[in-house]
Amino acid sequence: MSVLDLVRPALAELTPYKAAEQVFDTVRLNANESPFDTASADFRRPLNRYPEIRPQRLRALLAERFGCATDRLLVTRGSSEAIDLLIRAFCTAEQDNIVVTSPTFSMYAHYARVQGADVRDVPLLAADDFALDESALQGVIDQRSKLLFLCSPNNPTGTSLPRATIERVLERTRGRLAVVVDEAYIEFSDADSVATLLDRYEHLIVLRTLSKALAFAGARCGAVIANAALVGVLDAIQAPYALSTPVVECVEDALSGDNIERAEQQVSLLVSERERVRAELESMSIVARLWPSDANFLLVEFSDVQKVLEATRNAGVLLRYFGDALDACARISIGTAAENDAMLEAVRSTETRA
Ligand code: PMP
Repeated sequence: MSVLDLVRPALAELTPYKAAEQVFDTVRLNANESPFDTASADFRRPLNRYPEIRPQRLRALLAERFGCATDRLLVTRGSSEAIDLLIRAFCTAEQDNIVVTSPTFSMYAHYARVQGADVRDVPLLAADDFALDESALQGVIDQRSKLLFLCSPNNPTGTSLPRATIERVLERTRGRLAVVVDEAYIEFSDADSVATLLDRYEHLIVLRTLSKALAFAGARCGAVIANAALVGVLDAIQAPYALSTPVVECVEDALSGDNIERAEQQVSLLVSERERVRAELESMSIVARLWPSDANFLLVEFSDVQKVLEATRNAGVLLRYFGDALDACARISIGTAAENDAMLEAVRSTETRA
């Protein structure tokens, strides 16, 4: 069975929206655009014209960056949009389910609920550095399971799944459901992208984003990498002209030599700051537990997390609190050295106060 057989039957016949033709050096009286380019900002492409229905140059640049063939990549508005597109492509409301491994990025479950799909949870093993519970996973997947979301490095734990684990899951799920590996934070780890496994596993889907290591969260740009036929299905669902001209141009620039080099230096800096912050936190008695992190944040368990949240907020520093299974924990993003120092000072102050 092909992964395409798992796509919603209602979408089998869907053809992409046919946009007005765009031909270089012609008079465009076919798209009801204004002929006047009055944009005050400077763009290489005129803003009175629609952008390309899909940004082809940007697509090629991202495919090169993420190490895949161009026809295996769809440019999306952040990887958030890719998650939404995938769930809409695979899950029929009130029938199908997705499988997640909590604690993990809440957007998977969120978009599943929006689509009316059920969410099956296979909790990660907290005592074992949030390892995947592989036998429980096999027990949870059923005929109506369409997508398994694996996040590696995982948000909010920071832990990675070994490549061998991901391969084992891919072996055991072949013909059963599609496996999405969300690599939003992979640049902060030593791991290689699993996109190279696409030739072997047609049910593998990889998510990448420019929001983290490339420091372009405000541009809303990411990518979904999958077999070309599946990319065609997602393309048919995505809004026409999804990526606006200003975004396309600023991201094209972001992917040029100088910017990539700077981003790589920033990633190294953030990784070394992460380890400095870890060492500092480990020396504090209010810290009960700290997990290894391959991302740009740390998950920390405190003996009194509310006290820490209050102290940091009073110092003008926001941490992320999730509650539920992580009700003693806070997730701390790694900032600049000065920002991290402000956070550390606030956390340290909880130890000296009675
Ligand atoms: N995946 C993970 C694991 C994330 O943590 C995030 C953002 N926090 C996203 C995807 C979505 O990011 P974006 O839409 O900015 O690409």
